[in-house]
Amino acid sequence: MAMTKPQVGLIGLGTMGAALALNIAEKGFPIAVWNRTASVTAEFHDGAGALAAQIVPTDTLAGLVAAMAPPRSIILMVPAGKPVDDMLAQLAKHLAPEDLVIDAGNANFHDTNRRTAQGLPFRFMGIGVSGGEAGARHGPAIMAGGTRQDWDRMAGVFRAIAAQADDGTPCADHMGEAGAGHFVKAVHNGIEYADMQMIAEVYGVMRDGLGLTAPQIAPILARWNEGVLRSYLVEISAAVAGAVDPVTGGPLLDMIVDAAGQKGTGRWTAIEAQNLGTPVPVIEAAVMARNVSSRRVERAAGEALYGPAPTRATLPVGDLEQALIAGKILCYAQGFTMMTAAADEFGWALDMPAIARVWRAGCIIRSAMLNDMAEALAQDPTRNLMLAPFFADLLRQTTPALRRVVAQGALHGLGLPALSAGLAWFDLMRTARGTANMIQGQRDYFGLHGFRRLDGLDHPHGPWASS
Ligand code: NDP
Repeated sequence: MAMTKPQVGLIGLGTMGAALALNIAEKGFPIAVWNRTASVTAEFHDGAGALAAQIVPTDTLAGLVAAMAPPRSIILMVPAGKPVDDMLAQLAKHLAPEDLVIDAGNANFHDTNRRTAQGLPFRFMGIGVSGGEAGARHGPAIMAGGTRQDWDRMAGVFRAIAAQADDGTPCADHMGEAGAGHFVKAVHNGIEYADMQMIAEVYGVMRDGLGLTAPQIAPILARWNEGVLRSYLVEISAAVAGAVDPVTGGPLLDMIVDAAGQKGTGRWTAIEAQNLGTPVPVIEAAVMARNVSSRRVERAAGEALYGPAPTRATLPVGDLEQALIAGKILCYAQGFTMMTAAADEFGWALDMPAIARVWRAGCIIRSAMLNDMAEALAQDPTRNLMLAPFFADLLRQTTPALRRVVAQGALHGLGLPALSAGLAWFDLMRTARGTANMIQGQRDYFGLHGFRRLDGLDHPHGPWASS
């Protein structure tokens, strides 16, 4: 029986594109595919098994377009940057104004804003796809930008292929206009860096401060995964800590080089936060820590010069769980504050509870706590999460432990940049009378920048001004 001509197409059958195409075909949408290297397309189709019947392989871009019924919706899954611009230029020769191209790679949202504004001869939207290859194949989280009209056109496909939260809601939604989807994906990745770093920090306290072995640490993390911290990242950290090295028979974790890689999306988030004037110190600390991790030779020289971190810490393991809970809340509070600032700056109607809901499944930062964040943001989308009653209660319970952990780290030479950054931000944000009066005095002294007085009197300069 002849298949109806697909309205959905996909370009770029690499790791993510191939998985996404199979997912789309599996959910009952016929799909036409094209890849720059034709042999990849043939291999993909040959390996698609029963799903091959839903998939139309094509050899040329013209062939892809001809194989589809208008209005066409073509997903681009190629590396971000120039390859996307090149593909858009090529597609311009073939597509009609009502056809839609969807950039589903990890574009910088500024590029997506630019492409949206540049007047392409077809419709265009950028979406963030999270969850890696397994997510793309079986259910990613999808953060869509672009117009509401194009979202409505694609929502059926995106919701069908997305992961589902525990309550059955698909983790795919419209985040806002233009580059909003790619922006939310970047913040997601920044938070991913921070979540991972904070887990690594409490692991470090257990290993170096409390002298626990990886097999002892694994069940502790697994237990945390049964409580408030239930999340994909805590779950896999327990598995990583518990893994046995097939070569030595010892803990695999002890054999892994302590230098972390990065593709740069965490750094984008940190830079963008600074540009927006809403820093995200926990994420910034996590980016810094990854950079420092790669400086292994210098770190070894530092240890040779100053000696290893002093002595054992004294601290109940329960404090580490509490510290992680507090750090996580503070990190997300910063991330959502940044997104509120971005919505103002770029004129996007970012839907904060929808963002928290979309992150509940399919993506790397999925966690139980996102349910509570979605609820708190539904009550007041622009309120700093640390001021929301539910999280204020949790922070009152957990910040004392965060203080003890950070203090023990400082006393015993255990670097805890992300947890410390979270605590410092919390303390600044809970202090009505800060210390910037001194900064303003200094600025006026050397630069006559002036200051405002608490009593409202009109004396904009200090007595030094006239001297
Ligand atoms: P791969 O390297 O596996 O695949 C890249 C694909 O793009 C291949 O099909 C390749 O074709 C094609 N391609 C490369 N350059 C060009 C070009 N100049 N013109 C046309 N086609 C080109 O990458 P991934 O699938 O991992 O990543 C794709 C996108 O998805 C990236 O933006 C990535 O950041 C993003 N992403 C990746 C995730 C992951 O976990 N891997 C997670 C979320 C997003 P050819 O066979 O001819 O080389």
